Amino acid sequence: MNLKDIISTKTINEVKQLLANPQKIIITTHRNPDGDAMGSSLGLCRFLNNMGHDATVITPNEYPEFLSWLPGNDKVIRFCDSKTRSIQLIAESTLIFCVDFNDTGRLSNMEEDFLKNKTKVVMIDHHPEPTAFADYIISFTGVSSTAELLFKFFNTLGQLAFVDAQVAECLFTGIMTDTGSFSYSASNPDTFKIAAELLKYGINKNSIYAHVYDNYSAERMKLFGYCLNEKMVVLKEYKTAFISLTFEEQKKYNFVIGDDEGFVNAPLSIKGVVFAAYFVERHKHIKISFRSRGKFNVNEFSRKHFNGGGHMNAAGGKTEIFLNQTIENFMKILPEYKEKLNETI
Ligand code: 5GP
Ligand code: MN
Repeated sequence: MNLKDIISTKTINEVKQLLANPQKIIITTHRNPDGDAMGSSLGLCRFLNNMGHDATVITPNEYPEFLSWLPGNDKVIRFCDSKTRSIQLIAESTLIFCVDFNDTGRLSNMEEDFLKNKTKVVMIDHHPEPTAFADYIISFTGVSSTAELLFKFFNTLGQLAFVDAQVAECLFTGIMTDTGSFSYSASNPDTFKIAAELLKYGINKNSIYAHVYDNYSAERMKLFGYCLNEKMVVLKEYKTAFISLTFEEQKKYNFVIGDDEGFVNAPLSIKGVVFAAYFVERHKHIKISFRSRGKFNVNEFSRKHFNGGGHMNAAGGKTEIFLNQTIENFMKILPEYKEKLNETI
């Protein structure tokens, strides 16, 4: 549970040194923050405030309602709504933490103003192939989530005394959501050990689970049913299945941000399917999610064909062409991967 074998002692000591004096800290994360992005940002924020720093979370845009119960949520600044204030906070900051992303392109609308910062930047992340934009890089793909890595980081700093129940709730949420409730292959023995440690802070895992997973509107459930019933395409030959969703369809079901969380995972529950994709129309682009089982590397697939990236079994991407055209292209690429897909179990 110590990062000393993975991250250089120099990096750890220098970050520790920076945290020895009170700092004005900004924590930021990727666009469309998910449970790990928000759990990690808010967990780190509370930890740093407990240490005596002045820390604030700025997200590039809005995030789903099922994460709005997280401790510290009321103080989060959305760059898209408070641009002037965010720019001022970035300019006044003495230290910046970037969590759950490893390429400034993932800040999207916030990237340009973020890059004007004049301070030290620490990256804490678990995605492959980090770009070297930060002064201190704490990056490790052998963890389930950034939240898991953060707990190891706090432990390595020797500062677990600043973890309290609220920090634990945030980190548990990050681990729980990024592992699909401890089911994905990225969970490892340390994931469970750390989850157990976090439970010792007296947090209520049943209530966290209910906040995240039992919080849907009836319309969302109907939309999910519609997607499975009417929109799922299964391509047996390629062990692949995908779902797509147009603006019209979103409107019909009063779609709100977060309603399609988990849609991409559903086809993977079909026996024999090893590759799942989800295509959704957004304002100026098509957002794509990819998931896989076993050795089929969707990070590589998305990087190569869909301007994206992520992990081996979970990645995202986007296109700036029509939805139909995007799906057509996807189907045209599949034959290239027929062998790889069929050797994956
Ligand atoms: P999701 O499909 O849930 O949006 O993303 C799955 C995983 O891929 C997450 O770990 C996410 O951070 C990463 N990801 C999603 N979209 C992109 C993208 O456009 N670029 C990169 N590099 N990673 C992405
Ligand atoms: Mn993550």
